[in-house]
Amino acid sequence: MSPQDLHRDSIVFDGHCDTLLEILDGRRPFGERSTKGHIDLPRLREGGVTAQVFAVYLEDKFLPASAVKQTLRILDVLFRELQAHPDDFALATCAADIEAAKASGKVAAVIGIEGAEALEGDLGVLRMLYRLGVRLLTVTWSRRNQAADGGYEMRTGGGLTEFGVKLVQECNQLGIILDISHLAPAGVRDVLELCRQPVVASHSNSRALCSHWRGLDDEQLRALAATGGVAGVTFVPAFLADDRKEANLERLLDHVDHMAGVAGIDHVGLGSDFDGFHPPAPKGLEDVTRLPAITEGLVRRGYSDDDVRKVLGGNWLRVLRQVAG
Ligand SMILES: [Zn+2]
Repeated sequence: MSPQDLHRDSIVFDGHCDTLLEILDGRRPFGERSTKGHIDLPRLREGGVTAQVFAVYLEDKFLPASAVKQTLRILDVLFRELQAHPDDFALATCAADIEAAKASGKVAAVIGIEGAEALEGDLGVLRMLYRLGVRLLTVTWSRRNQAADGGYEMRTGGGLTEFGVKLVQECNQLGIILDISHLAPAGVRDVLELCRQPVVASHSNSRALCSHWRGLDDEQLRALAATGGVAGVTFVPAFLADDRKEANLERLLDHVDHMAGVAGIDHVGLGSDFDGFHPPAPKGLEDVTRLPAITEGLVRRGYSDDDVRKVLGGNWLRVLRQVAG
């Protein structure tokens, strides 16, 4: 099978994007092909994406008091787009939804919440967000919240709070994937220890290849793999290479090589962070239409078709099935 055919035939699952904010702020429409930003519906189709995690990210100005309201406003944007494009775009809350989207040529949307500050410290809010379709929770963004310290706060060495422990248990109970990207190291350790399900790092690279604190060291990668989880290689230039000028497709493939070597091929996936970082994008990964270049690159580096499928989306699909059904 040619790399192009392999890409089209595979389930392609991207674990993180910040596109909803672009749409909410009216910077561009989701349904029309744009030259701005990285993701819109026509470009998702062009890039062969089967499933895209749409993150709900809260800007500082909405914290702490308007967190729930802003979360709902962002979700409203997604639900209106789902309603506007019923033939092309569908909500996915389980693995079967993604397989159905693949079969009918639709793009599946998976909802992720980026930071437990969205809950305003209330597990009832989490339970209602689950009913709205949320299936992934990034425990923290880089800031501190009621559950734990994000990476900007790692000076204190703080991990999960008592609320954070209850949150992990509630996510296990409901079937929400826990995500350790952005979390400070003590919290990463706590989540990996406490969580009874596969844990993900939705958009994090290898610290062995790029020294930025947002990356995962080899020990963290192995511990994450031991839960059965997946780490999504991310395209953020500062997380690819210490010298931003070296951030390109080949560097991304280097991260895949290293992470697959340390954690195993079953534990690496995609987590672009498209629309979540400032331009320029890495060379060769300018927007979501460039995803087939990753498939070509992996084939060129000697990955088998089966292994390429795992990295493109098979591993993410397995984790979703195990956690959410
Ligand atoms: Zn992020």
